[in-house]
Amino acid sequence: MDKRITKIGRGSMSIDEREIRSKLAQLIGDRGIVRGSLVTREKVCGKANCKCARGERHIAQYLVMSQDGKKRQLFVPAEMEAQVRRWLDNYRLAQQSLEEICNINWERLEKRER
Ligand SMILES: [Zn+2]
Repeated sequence: MDKRITKIGRGSMSIDEREIRSKLAQLIGDRGIVRGSLVTREKVCGKANCKCARGERHIAQYLVMSQDGKKRQLFVPAEMEAQVRRWLDNYRLAQQSLEEICNINWERLEKRER
């Protein structure tokens, strides 16, 4: 675990916690965020005289995620791949921040702080 998480100011919010909370607010606020993962699939378009009919398949990216036991997927055009990767990164970072805040609060409960 990150060492800076363990130094908690008594009763008040530590500088670290403030930083984490503001980072989290930024991630879920004015930036795009999405959960899932990008998967690459090879496709055949169906046109008889296309290169894919000769075995050279088209590469396509999909955003895939599971929700309530169901799998959702969305085709991601090449020009949007970088954006989707950024949004996925934001989700990962937000989740990390949330985890750090939860750890701080866990320790707070251990100390019977309110
Ligand atoms: Zn094709």
